[in-house]
Amino acid sequence: VELPIHDAVLGHAADFGDRPALIDGTDGTILTYAQVNRFHRRIAAGLADAGVGKGDVLALHSPNTIAFPTAFYAATRAGASVTTVHPLATPEEFAKQLGDSGARWIVTVSPLLETARRAAELAGGVGEIFVCDSASGHRSLIDMLATTAPEPRLAFDPAEDIAALPYSSGTTGGPKGVMLTHRQIATNLAQLEPAVAMAPGERILAVLPFFHIYGLTALMNAPLRKGATVVVLPRFDLETFLAAIENHRITGLYVAPPIVLALAKHPAVTRYDLSSLKYVLSAAAPLDAQLARACAERLGLPPIGQAYGMTELSPGTHVVPLDRLHDAPAGTVGRLIAGTEMRIVSLDEPGKDLGTGESGEILIRGPQVMKGYLGRPDATAAVIDADGWLHTGDVGHVDADGWLFVVDRVKELIKYKGFQVAPAELEALLLTHPGIADAAVIGTCNEDGNEVPHAFVVRRAEAADDLTENEILLYVAERVAPYKRVRRITFIDTVPRAASGKILRRELRALREHT
Ligand code: ATP
Ligand code: MG
Repeated sequence: VELPIHDAVLGHAADFGDRPALIDGTDGTILTYAQVNRFHRRIAAGLADAGVGKGDVLALHSPNTIAFPTAFYAATRAGASVTTVHPLATPEEFAKQLGDSGARWIVTVSPLLETARRAAELAGGVGEIFVCDSASGHRSLIDMLATTAPEPRLAFDPAEDIAALPYSSGTTGGPKGVMLTHRQIATNLAQLEPAVAMAPGERILAVLPFFHIYGLTALMNAPLRKGATVVVLPRFDLETFLAAIENHRITGLYVAPPIVLALAKHPAVTRYDLSSLKYVLSAAAPLDAQLARACAERLGLPPIGQAYGMTELSPGTHVVPLDRLHDAPAGTVGRLIAGTEMRIVSLDEPGKDLGTGESGEILIRGPQVMKGYLGRPDATAAVIDADGWLHTGDVGHVDADGWLFVVDRVKELIKYKGFQVAPAELEALLLTHPGIADAAVIGTCNEDGNEVPHAFVVRRAEAADDLTENEILLYVAERVAPYKRVRRITFIDTVPRAASGKILRRELRALREHT
């Protein structure tokens, strides 16, 4: 794929003309393909006229809105690399990302303007702050629609030029800027395309954030490249989400496990007409097979499919193709996509390849492996080896038919007396208890110096008084080998999660230190 990302995605936009590209799920505003195509070109001209140029970094700071994709493609067409910023970032966090990425420009929305201003100040100033909507004292992207400036006609080198500079979720270490070239993102889009069957007439609900690579790909690039319609919600609220599925006749859901959990367990789900749904795909964190089955059965859908990837992989390597939902084994994250290689290597003997069914670290080589972490050659060399293999830090195994199963992250495995326990397995088991609404597990040091599974449990409101620590310990003990037993329980109100749905175990560790 030798097109810059805006052309790879919007190359057919003119043909889709009056079809709705984006619909605001809150107020119903529609942007057609013709509008997205025209608008992003005009805004690119406006940005270029304001000084944005080839190689600049532009920080896009916005919740999901129908303007987000237009702003993104306008920025790349103007030659910028886009670093997406979490809309809930504090000014300090935002300033850090500005400094680290070297961003010269900010595009924000008026409700977040104060945060953006303070971040820019803390970072020592930026070239200019633009707003997507309008705000006094700042140039707005809407005003740029009227610009008479010429559309920039830049030459791109898709293999070298950075299109996106997302910061990895920061689930494990500190956030790092991931350099993804136009070619890496566009190639991965093409690699995943046969599996996801995006087409005009499909209606996708974008509730996971566009700023994260999963949302950017599955909810923005993939549907817009194929003429599908994206219904946009700014944040996850279960009732609004369910109402949007009903009102907009949503056909496909791309979600993370907490949403699958809500769909499987929450009483509100039965009050909505969800009959337009054809499939649900989950990614970003481990999904328990039993929970997935409960969700699919409740909604009357085919088995829930999964995909696997990471920011550093642009982001995908595995997916259960939609035409394989029925025959894929339960719990798999999918098959390796075309043009990509995988190895599973031993955790004990580095470099030793493992066979079918044996669990080890997942290594990936392919055109979607990131260019590197921005300004961190050592961190880059620590994950991409001399032969080009990216060490994912995830543990998994493949079955004889090539289906991949992800066990957990290498770093999260709890080592109990030489045995390895995967928190994800215990979390899944805890969720099968009818009195448990949510759960997360980390390793905690016992009095005798052993690392043991420590569960943080959210009880269902109805069960809160009856469900005791002992009952939960016993429930687990009856169902797992002795070395996997949960040894400590802490009751909490909510499990801390990142916007992408991942459990923030470092927050649980902090909580543990304070109890
Ligand atoms: P950081 O690298 O900054 O600590 P992060 O790894 O959470 O953050 P992402 O790139 O968003 O940042 O997430 C990728 C990770 O998500 C993978 O390495 C894997 O651990 C997990 N993951 C993704 N998809 C799945 C899946 N289907 N099942 C289990 N885990 C998954
Ligand atoms: Mg990671």
